[in-house]
Amino acid sequence: MTIKLYNSLSKKVEQFKPLKGNEVRMYSCGPTVYNYAHIGNMRAFLFADFLQRVLRTVGKYEMRWVMNITDIDDKTIRDSSIGSKEWKSEMGEQTESAKDNLKKLTSFYEKSFIDDITKLGINPKHFFAMPKATDYIKEMQELILNIIENGYAYIADGSVYFDVNAWRKDDKYGKLYKIDFDNFKSGYRIDSDQYEREQASDFVLWKEFKENEPYWDFEIAGKNYPGRPGWHIECSAMEYVLLELPFDIHTGGVDLKFPHHEDEIAQSKAGYGIEPTAFWCHNEFLEVEKRKMSKSFGNFFTLRDLIKQGLDPIDIRLAMLSAHYASKYNFTFKGVAAAHKARVRVQEYIYYVWELAKGKVSNDFSGKVEELRNKVFAELADDLHTPRALAAMFSFLNDAQSNNLSVNEAQQMLGFLTEMNDIFAAWQISEEKAKPQSAPQDIIDIANERLEAKKNKDFARADALRSKLSELGYLVKDSKDGYELIKN
Ligand SMILES: [Zn+2]
Repeated sequence: MTIKLYNSLSKKVEQFKPLKGNEVRMYSCGPTVYNYAHIGNMRAFLFADFLQRVLRTVGKYEMRWVMNITDIDDKTIRDSSIGSKEWKSEMGEQTESAKDNLKKLTSFYEKSFIDDITKLGINPKHFFAMPKATDYIKEMQELILNIIENGYAYIADGSVYFDVNAWRKDDKYGKLYKIDFDNFKSGYRIDSDQYEREQASDFVLWKEFKENEPYWDFEIAGKNYPGRPGWHIECSAMEYVLLELPFDIHTGGVDLKFPHHEDEIAQSKAGYGIEPTAFWCHNEFLEVEKRKMSKSFGNFFTLRDLIKQGLDPIDIRLAMLSAHYASKYNFTFKGVAAAHKARVRVQEYIYYVWELAKGKVSNDFSGKVEELRNKVFAELADDLHTPRALAAMFSFLNDAQSNNLSVNEAQQMLGFLTEMNDIFAAWQISEEKAKPQSAPQDIIDIANERLEAKKNKDFARADALRSKLSELGYLVKDSKDGYELIKN
């Protein structure tokens, strides 16, 4: 099925087609590993994951997906420095070596990042690579040398800067984001990795090291410039090495359009003569209870905070994916509770279908299953319209025909639900996991109480106990012999 996506570069919805064969080469800006990622960051990673899953399952493409790990930048240096308040004992002892301390801090948060995304249903095996910036310093230096040689960068005070004015004579700066050049300060240089649009100016490619900072030697025209790369050059070099230019899709949050992605485009074109990609996909912000997430509002959450409060990460995944990626997502606890209910509804249906299909999966679609599948996939292929895709799915589930399947239809339905799970990664579908399991005694007690309530026709009580079981992680399914308990 042809997939259409909104391209931030052309500002239009376009038909997507890989540049080479059936393989999609996709680059996603990954985390800066100086702290636990918050749920705003997580939305960007979930969006990228969802996009690659739709490309695999609906588009039937092979994926070559790269997400980088930024393990050297302003923040990782700040928080790994000697005496930093952010240092945790789990990272080990700090030493005299700034590089060693940087490695300890960033390895700790890299591991926690992989743990977090795995809990959120992102499969680390889906990545072709998760390159760390410090492993590609040589390639970054080569790119910087190219840019200098081509006349678009200069050295000042021991650092190397991209010369925006020189670049603008030959190409456009501001392809993704409109920049007001009336306020542009020519010759003004900026060293920090993140800056506002109003500060558009010559940005740093290589930063001279300060005392006690980690550094790498860099020889330019016979002279050594010890220092470290700027944040933007990291992605430009890694995507060139791992995906070749131009690749198919670059993803990231809207906050990265400027300066990060704008600078990536300028660097790649100025150094390699090719822009990274013609397809840029950006997801919108996440708010919490209709307010910008901020520590000062008390609505700042990492995934770990939410798990501690009893939320299931897969419910968070489904809640976030239920909204369209290009609209702001308002995170609420109510929204996650609704996602949980929706998830359980589908899971129960999977059990029903599983039994009817006797565990046999058919991908030979016809009749009503094919109709449903076409409808759902068409919505996903239309710029990943998950709200409409899920609505089509639930409207089928709420219809009598969903419970009136022949064995053959049930087998097709199991095939379709397997595909849905390849995309949403929110359910248990494999034989051993989908089958009922034994439960601890306290759970069985509640289930017995529920059965009793049902026999006494106290359905309100029975429903309340069903919800309680669901909160405790168990689904209850009525059967001939009473009930079955299934780990949620
Ligand atoms: Zn990046």
